[in-house]
Amino acid sequence: MPNKYLTILTAILFIFLLFSVFIYSSTYNTYTQNRLAKLHNHETPNANSAGDTVTQSVYGEIYNDNLEINTSPQSLIKPIYPDASDKNSSKEVYITIDDGPDPYSTPKYLKILKENEVKATFFMIGSRIERYPELVKQIDSEGHSIGNHSYSHNYYILYKNTENFKDEVLKSSEIIFSIIGRSPKIFRAPGGSPNMHNVEFDNILSELGYSVFDWNVSAADTDPAGITKNQVVYNIEHESKGIKRVIVLMHDNSKRKASIEALPEVIKWFKKKGYQFNVLDENTTPMRIKRKASSPPQNTTVNKSVYQENSLGGN
Ligand SMILES: [Zn+2]
Repeated sequence: MPNKYLTILTAILFIFLLFSVFIYSSTYNTYTQNRLAKLHNHETPNANSAGDTVTQSVYGEIYNDNLEINTSPQSLIKPIYPDASDKNSSKEVYITIDDGPDPYSTPKYLKILKENEVKATFFMIGSRIERYPELVKQIDSEGHSIGNHSYSHNYYILYKNTENFKDEVLKSSEIIFSIIGRSPKIFRAPGGSPNMHNVEFDNILSELGYSVFDWNVSAADTDPAGITKNQVVYNIEHESKGIKRVIVLMHDNSKRKASIEALPEVIKWFKKKGYQFNVLDENTTPMRIKRKASSPPQNTTVNKSVYQENSLGGN
């Protein structure tokens, strides 16, 4: 008699167990499908602050929420100069656009910046400023900052000796002055300040009153293998995580379409994270890339082929 009840009870429990498994399975599938939809729509679940773990991939793969994404060589790039500012200070971002002006890309950058009511800093090459002075006037009249980025951007000539270096800085400065009536004393070294392998280069800039700015977040848009808009967005968002003072490096020429396409999304992301957009000027605290201990100044390679005027490589 008890055996009969026991059998019925066991059967009921078994059916209940099967039913529970079915319900759980359905719920899990729905959750997975929702996440799939979110990821393909480029949403960032649980993205509440700049320091959040990234939970999506721009390449469409699915990742565990608790895992860091590490999908491409670009993602291996660490912020070059992690910010050490007060954790309680407000967050600020400087969009810097190098190597222009360019008749293809500069107007596109300016249009996006205007539409989003954001000001940027253009570090421009003297030889290109000479060719496109109207673009420089437009950059200035629309409230963006202008910086000196040498005259030739040719590493071999620029860094060959201090005379060349000083001549290029002064020449670009005079060209900028002739167009906008002033010449802001901010400088970005082509390839970054570690390329200024002789302390005399720094001394020249100090004597001329220049502040030197590198960057701590890069779009990595000079990758010779090419780069997509989504990769640029990913690089910038990933490298900016946890940094309160971000200086973003992008490039202004017709071969860097990915950065132009990415800019609206990048601006939207920084706004969402609560960053203020500022421009670099003489009053801004300089930011320098720290030279690796393993690469002393004397060993810095000056590569003839890094920059060609028509191919616009380098930084
Ligand atoms: Zn450059």
